Amino acid sequence: MTDPLIGVLALQGGVVEHRASLERAGARTRLVRRTAQLEGLDGLVLPGGESTTMSKLLDIGGMLGPLRGMLADGLPAFGTCAGLILLAREVLDTRADAHSLGALDITVRRNAFGRQVDSFETDLAVTGVTDGEDAAPVHAVFIRAPWVEGVGEDVSVIARVSDGGAAHGAVVGVRQGPVLGISFHPELTGDDRLHRHFLDIVAGQA
Ligand code: GLN
Repeated sequence: MTDPLIGVLALQGGVVEHRASLERAGARTRLVRRTAQLEGLDGLVLPGGESTTMSKLLDIGGMLGPLRGMLADGLPAFGTCAGLILLAREVLDTRADAHSLGALDITVRRNAFGRQVDSFETDLAVTGVTDGEDAAPVHAVFIRAPWVEGVGEDVSVIARVSDGGAAHGAVVGVRQGPVLGISFHPELTGDDRLHRHFLDIVAGQA
């Protein structure tokens, strides 16, 4: 099989780092700024950044409808931080005019950790990534991150904060079929295991 072609939504946010992680993990990549660039993709990464800005740019560019349709038809997607927010069905603490794509049957709260601490780092177990007994935990960087407050019955929780602090137990990773969403920034640590996991999902091998 040829290497999968993965789009990186490139309207705003951490585009370059995701592209580098995907290429190290063995994918071909395409930066996606217009609807036509969605065509032929095997999967799409929605990076971190600012979800209401990305929502506005998706709307202005006429991409909301086509992207919703492709996700409903089963396009694999991987959203991180703002990208997780964009993929959600319901978003709390956002602007009234913000749109989301509804590919994950979850309720997320924007900037949820802000009440405790704006940005922080911690180690996490992630289902599908750190399952092996000897696997190192994922070092997770949270930057004004959302958390997941509600999940539908088809959604699996794959990661929770487990540091014993004020946010202990918060859901920060979910999967629904071929759609993966996490609250943190795997593209900033040089650990490509989450990107490789997404490519395995794209290949139907996870
Ligand atoms: N707080 C940002 C938002 O709403 C997300 C932060 C991030 O992606 N690092 O959209």
